Amino acid sequence: MSAESPNDENFTIQQFRTILKQFVADRDWEKYHTPRALSEAISIEAGELLENFLFKPDDYFHGDLTPITDEIADVFIYLLNLVNSLKLPNFTEIVLRKIEKNSKKYPIEQFSGDNYSKQ
Ligand SMILES: [Mg+2]
Repeated sequence: MSAESPNDENFTIQQFRTILKQFVADRDWEKYHTPRALSEAISIEAGELLENFLFKPDDYFHGDLTPITDEIADVFIYLLNLVNSLKLPNFTEIVLRKIEKNSKKYPIEQFSGDNYSKQ
């Protein structure tokens, strides 16, 4: 029996980080991966994601999502390259801490449902 394919349940952020670190090292790209360049790349890839929606109705995407998922992956890849470049030891903790901050900033009683647009 073969091993289960990688999926959201069995693949970790650290595994992604290790693969991307090796990908960058194999190409000797560390010198290009400055925090500024990687932040710019994240923004550019986010723009490419947005471009998929330009001048299209909101319900346009019913079929092939590949152009969108490719750009989502690019944003994620550059984000983790930035995390690697900054040598952040515990990205999971950083994200969980920010979600907690957001929970305090946007309490459910005040911001749920239609209340969001009334702020
Ligand atoms: Mg792209």
